Amino acid sequence: MPIISFNNLAPLPTERVAPTAKAAALDTLRKTIGDCTRCPLAYAGRHTIVFADGDPNAQLMFVGEGPGADEDASGVPFVGKAGQLLNNMINAMGLKREQVYIANIVKCRPPKNRVPEPIEANTCSQFLLQQIDIVQPKVIVALGSTAATYLLGVKQSLNGLRGRWHDVRGAKAAVTYHPAFLLRDPRQKGEAWKDLQRVMVELNLKPPARG
Ligand code: URA
Repeated sequence: MPIISFNNLAPLPTERVAPTAKAAALDTLRKTIGDCTRCPLAYAGRHTIVFADGDPNAQLMFVGEGPGADEDASGVPFVGKAGQLLNNMINAMGLKREQVYIANIVKCRPPKNRVPEPIEANTCSQFLLQQIDIVQPKVIVALGSTAATYLLGVKQSLNGLRGRWHDVRGAKAAVTYHPAFLLRDPRQKGEAWKDLQRVMVELNLKPPARG
């Protein structure tokens, strides 16, 4: 199954969802997803559909790969160890978690946290695409290679995609390491910080004052 770029999945909406209507539009989308059985992950032991977390009006959106055990149990993305690190990354950018929007390529936990299959990611991506079109963040950060692959529609090494801007549904998209990878290889945290600093410049964010 080919990997399809988000930019080609549907035409860009001609009208923006008004800021005051975004939360309701996301609720409607969540209801449309329902108790989803559209892909094999529905039958692979998932407990909870993990829709998203954060501000419907966020300027910054993070996209990960898919829920793990903690997320499957709680229904909230990035609440496990990788989520703690993501929270620290967000705070280091001068933001609170509640100010960004966080979602995943797939909304159901792949068994044993395996990488989502193309049929799963491509089936689920219609909903992430709609979330992006509703929130209309200025910047999207793809966390890790699965997020980068499906958001950008290209399978390339992460390092080949880092350090430059990509276009995803009219937003500027940056690619960086997945926090779970950074937990395994903390030496790469400096490189991830460089990626986040480029995002901070774009969004005019200042790191919090120390003290
Ligand atoms: N890893 C992800 O990619 N997403 C989550 O929600 C949690 C861990």
